[in-house]
Amino acid sequence: MMLGLLLARAGVEVNVLEKHGDFLRDFRGDTVHPSTLEVMHELGLLESFLQRPFDKATELRVQVGNEEAALADFTGLKTRCGFIALMPQWEFLDFLRDHAQTYPSFRLMMNTEATGLVEQGGRVSGVRARTQDGEIEIGADLVVACDGRRSTLRGVAGFTVHNLGAPIDVLWMRISKQPGDTGGTGGRIGTGSFLAMIDRGSYWQTAFVIAKGGMEKIKAAGLEAFRQRMVALVPMFAGRIAADLASWDDVKLLSVSVDRLEQWWKPGLLCIGDAAHAMSPIGGVGINLAIQDAVATANLLAAPLADDGLGADMITPYLAKVQARRMFPTRVTQAVQVAAQNNLINPLLDSTRPPTMPFVLRLFNRFRLMRRWPAYAVGVGARPEHVQSPEKS
Ligand SMILES: Cc1cc2nc3c(=O)[nH]c(=O)nc-3n(C[C@H](O)[C@H](O)[C@H](O)COP(=O)(O)OP(=O)(O)OC[C@H]3O[C@@H](n4cnc5c(N)ncnc54)[C@H](O)[C@@H]3O)c2cc1C
Repeated sequence: MMLGLLLARAGVEVNVLEKHGDFLRDFRGDTVHPSTLEVMHELGLLESFLQRPFDKATELRVQVGNEEAALADFTGLKTRCGFIALMPQWEFLDFLRDHAQTYPSFRLMMNTEATGLVEQGGRVSGVRARTQDGEIEIGADLVVACDGRRSTLRGVAGFTVHNLGAPIDVLWMRISKQPGDTGGTGGRIGTGSFLAMIDRGSYWQTAFVIAKGGMEKIKAAGLEAFRQRMVALVPMFAGRIAADLASWDDVKLLSVSVDRLEQWWKPGLLCIGDAAHAMSPIGGVGINLAIQDAVATANLLAAPLADDGLGADMITPYLAKVQARRMFPTRVTQAVQVAAQNNLINPLLDSTRPPTMPFVLRLFNRFRLMRRWPAYAVGVGARPEHVQSPEKS
């Protein structure tokens, strides 16, 4: 959606295909990071964006056993907004759509699922898609696959996927919020358990991390045993957990994968976002990376695509430039996520001993200035992008 907006803003004819009929899915963290807010500012949209409902996270805290520590402080970042905006994904996407639709060359096709690629003369020249009225073909100088970590298009293109491995899955739940609730967005670590909590104003979005494939074992122990594990981590949930987790239907299993394509493009086709590099939820940075990919793609491709005199084949060298620019932040971020998965979270899930606060977290808690490092890594990340693509007058 962000790339569609940026290209339409530059005068490029864009069709955005979305297989669902709306954006009302609840299976993602909804973290709009300081660097994304910076992009909104560069587009002149920040003020109207912040009129939408959202919650502010100015810091991240972690609780280990009974001890709490501040881990990241966004207020010291040299960005326009010193906070993460926690905004439901549908609000964010609706906002981008509403703005994109002010450009005459933008077209959003809902209920339209890309199913295959059209190839002609050794290059991709469009997509096949399933709509409510049947199969269609859409011709294009460039197809950009932004269809997420289970990308259909990267599959049919036959790209080689480098799987970095994810030993964890996530159980995703909503727990109601009540007056007097304490703590904020952050993590809770207990014996053999890790829970991430996002404060969404009226409820807690919670992500309970389990070993990959461990759901059957958890189910076999029973729902009540699972509720008790949650309460052991967050005692304030005791009075409400039975109602909030009335059955296993209230607990959604999300499979985590971390991978990236060796090559993100071929003539006429480019993959970005999770379609190019599926991100782990660790650090909550996948949305940010996908947005940064979109900005970099528009910076490099908006002008050549808007130039009608330039043939489709002339665009190919720019596709390689997008990968060259975005591979570095992808590698760095995934390396940190994989290291955290393998060295921190996995041993923790295997452990039967009560955890103790790691020394480095004590340091972060003690020295506020040090909290800017994790804040920068999460809130801005490696190689932040700035909008340089043109706006057609
Ligand atoms: C459990 C979990 C929690 C996470 N929490 C966070 C978090 O808190 N913060 C964060 O930044 N990141 C988080 N992530 C990662 C983040 O969700 C992704 O990195 C990010 O959404 C990638 O954006 P994207 O636009 O590339 O893909 P997606 O957000 O997956 O969007 C792909 C879109 O394409 C549509 N689509 C799919 N296939 C087709 C098709 N064939 N035709 C047409 N449309 C199609 C989908 O419906 C969807 O709208 C989490 C990931 C997981 C698994």
